[in-house]
Amino acid sequence: MKSPEFDLALERAVRWVTSYFAHTRDFPVFSKSIPGSIKNAIPPALPETGEPLSALLDDFERLVVPGITHWNHPRFFAYFAITGSEPGVIAELLSAALNVNAMLWRTSPAATEIEEAALGWLRDALGLPRELFGVIYDTASVSGLHALAAARESLGLEIRNLGAAGRDLPRLRVYCTAETHSHIEKDAILLGIGRENVVKIPTDDAFQMAPRALASALAADRAAGYLPMCVAATVGTTSTTSIDPVRAIAAVCREHRVWLHVDAAYAGPAAIVPELRWVLDGCELADSIVVNPHKWLFVPIDLSVLYTRHEGLLRRAFSLIPAYLETPESDVRNYMDYGVQLGRRFRGLKLWFVLRAYGRSGIVERLRNHVAWTQELARRIREAGDFEILAPHPLSVVCFRHAARGLENEALDAHNQRIVDEVNRTGFAFFSTTRLNGRLALRMAIGNERTTEADVFETWDLILRTARQLAPA
Ligand SMILES: *Cc1c(COP(=O)(O)O)cnc(C)c1O
Repeated sequence: MKSPEFDLALERAVRWVTSYFAHTRDFPVFSKSIPGSIKNAIPPALPETGEPLSALLDDFERLVVPGITHWNHPRFFAYFAITGSEPGVIAELLSAALNVNAMLWRTSPAATEIEEAALGWLRDALGLPRELFGVIYDTASVSGLHALAAARESLGLEIRNLGAAGRDLPRLRVYCTAETHSHIEKDAILLGIGRENVVKIPTDDAFQMAPRALASALAADRAAGYLPMCVAATVGTTSTTSIDPVRAIAAVCREHRVWLHVDAAYAGPAAIVPELRWVLDGCELADSIVVNPHKWLFVPIDLSVLYTRHEGLLRRAFSLIPAYLETPESDVRNYMDYGVQLGRRFRGLKLWFVLRAYGRSGIVERLRNHVAWTQELARRIREAGDFEILAPHPLSVVCFRHAARGLENEALDAHNQRIVDEVNRTGFAFFSTTRLNGRLALRMAIGNERTTEADVFETWDLILRTARQLAPA
């Protein structure tokens, strides 16, 4: 590649990014692409000769951008709103240029040591115990898989060596609730635990796991010959951000000698805010805990962190060193030993950049605003009179619906679905739905760093107007 061509293309790409960040709110949040339209615009075969970078960038603007649903848009309120922040984007660019494979310490000492240092900062900022070991994976789903594998290793059943099939082993069980993120069940599938052995413990009216019901399930299962392997509690469930009573659950786990895993993928960062530190109450007793800086901590996707107090068990579950990866250093950490993946991106750089660029107080201020706006939004929803709040909203998500007069059950669900579809179709804002007790709920999640108070309340005004227009007369 000729250097002037690269320089020009890089400058153009950087200019595009700068302008994108300055004008993100001018794009429709939700892509209006129709299925197949993008794929059909791409030639069916690989080009025979290389194309100029300028042609690639032309197509990026012409073909790719219109097919983007803008997660970076300040009025993206669907799922969990996230941010590809400026320091994170710069780190991604530099990390792509370095193209480091952080599998061994020696394959880039900086990648390993920056991961260790940034994870230490984050652990301390979250108020978690210093003895926790941290490792970065791509997503919470994969962090959870590794936690569950370490929990299985802790049982000493030699499954790593002998496998589980054809042996006289008890059935292993994992405990969670219907509100638990679906990855726990997928991870159990992958580890050979089986979906039937993922036990859903009942929740109370605030969608929180009932510790007494957990204790009874554990006792009954032991008596019936099952082997409890792991309890997965959640701090900030995906539908409503409910927070399981981790301290009480930890006491039950200790009594029944079961691994406690805490999924704090979304809500974990809230613990950096002094008055929200309580969200991780009891998590110091957990065996493992997941936090996703790519959710509510402004780090570009993907970056999930697993902390565990059992570094040795995690390593025992996964370390396997072929001859070609032997390494002379003995006093270093080789992150390939802590997972199925050998090759690893240098993700620590973007976490380090983001933490430094905002600082503790910068993070606190942003998260505090998100929570304050959510509480004010909930107040306005309640005040409107014809809306209902459907779940507690301790953090930055609120679930609600338009209780249009004369509509019930399926008809009410359909009316609320029309409201979301109509608002999303405008391109002004994007939000999503969930189901609570079987009924459709509108769900607004605040979490993008560029969101302003006006974005939240202009969107609410649009929802309110749309709901009343669509309601039967
Ligand atoms: C989003 C979410 C996940 C899944 O996160 P990925 O990183 O996309 O795998 C897991 N748990 C909770 C509570 C979540 O909100």
